[in-house]
Amino acid sequence: MKCTEFLKELTDYLDGKISDNLRIELDEHLHWCHECHVVMNTTQKTIEIYRDNKLYELPEDLRNRLHQAIMNKCRDSKSGKKSTH
Ligand SMILES: [Zn+2]
Repeated sequence: MKCTEFLKELTDYLDGKISDNLRIELDEHLHWCHECHVVMNTTQKTIEIYRDNKLYELPEDLRNRLHQAIMNKCRDSKSGKKSTH
């Protein structure tokens, strides 16, 4: 699974709306991909904040920014430091 695929499923993953098979794949990705792990934690915290405010939808803007952030990180790690794959 690629980071982009992971990100596509991330909010459903956090909402528990995905199938068991897909969840296993996402867990596996999280296991070796530090970047997605960080994004997942950040997103989870953000969702909790929004839940406290009774807002259940992750704003489109935030989703886009997270997506952009991970894409930049992926590009960086390709040219520079190694990820622990
Ligand atoms: Zn990833």
